[in-house]
Formats: sequence, C-alpha cells, structure tokens
Amino acid sequence: MTESRIADCLFCRIIAGELAASKVHEDDAVVAIRDIAPRAPTHILVMPRTHIASAADLTPAHGELLGRIFGVAADLAREQGIAKRGYRITTNVGAWGGQSVDHLHFHLMGGRAFEWPPG
Ligand code: AMP
Repeated sequence: MTESRIADCLFCRIIAGELAASKVHEDDAVVAIRDIAPRAPTHILVMPRTHIASAADLTPAHGELLGRIFGVAADLAREQGIAKRGYRITTNVGAWGGQSVDHLHFHLMGGRAFEWPPG
C-alpha cells in the first residue's frame, strides 16, 4: 500500500519517530502505542502507518489493512493478558463521536469491565 503522512498529524509524527511514545508493536503497516492518558488498566491505540483521517474514510480497498490492524489488536490482547476475560475495541469518528486525533486509531482497552452503551 502507498504510504501517506500529514506533516502536522500527531500520530504521523509518532509513527515517524519524531515524537516519543510507548510503542508496543510496529510493522510495515501497523503501529500500536500505549495511550498517554489510559482509561483502563490496558489502553493501547492500534493504527495504520499510513494517514487515514478516520473510519469514515475507509473503503473496501482497506480490507487487508483492517485485517492486519485487528490481527495485531488480537495478538496484543493475548500478550497483555486481557484476552481471556474480554476487552473492547473502539474507534471514534468526529467531534460527537469523541475523536480528538484525526488519524484513524482503534482503542484496545481491557483489564476491567465496560458498560454498554458507552457514555
Ligand atoms: P480519540 O479521542 O478517540 O481521537 O483518541 C485519541 C487518544 O490519543 C486519546 O485517548 C489520547 O489520550 C491519546 N493521545 C493523545 N496524545 C497522545 C500521545 N502523545 N501519545 C499517546 N496517546 C496520545
């Protein structure tokens, strides 16, 4: 896949190594970092290396990439010891969805029980 990046995108800069972050996974397509303000005992952000603004920009052409992202999330959940009891994977879209960083990312959260529906 052709990679793209946005100069002033926080996560593009972290992925490029220009800004520090606690990376827990990195490969040619997917990067995962620990959330700087965790909302659960385990809170990891899994994201594509290439810049995609949000889930609203996904198309069928991203199918393989999404499979890679969810595969990494499942592997990390097992590695972090949260897989057995269950966990949540969430992506926020836009202001009312709670999105604060405009680079597609999936919150992998576990280590406690979550309510439904979320607030
Ligand atoms: P969202 O609000 O869904 O766009 O998620 C963005 C997440 O990025 C939030 O949970 C923030 O705590 C997290 N975040 C912001 N800046 C950083 C950073 N420098 N390193 C790691 N996580 C960050």
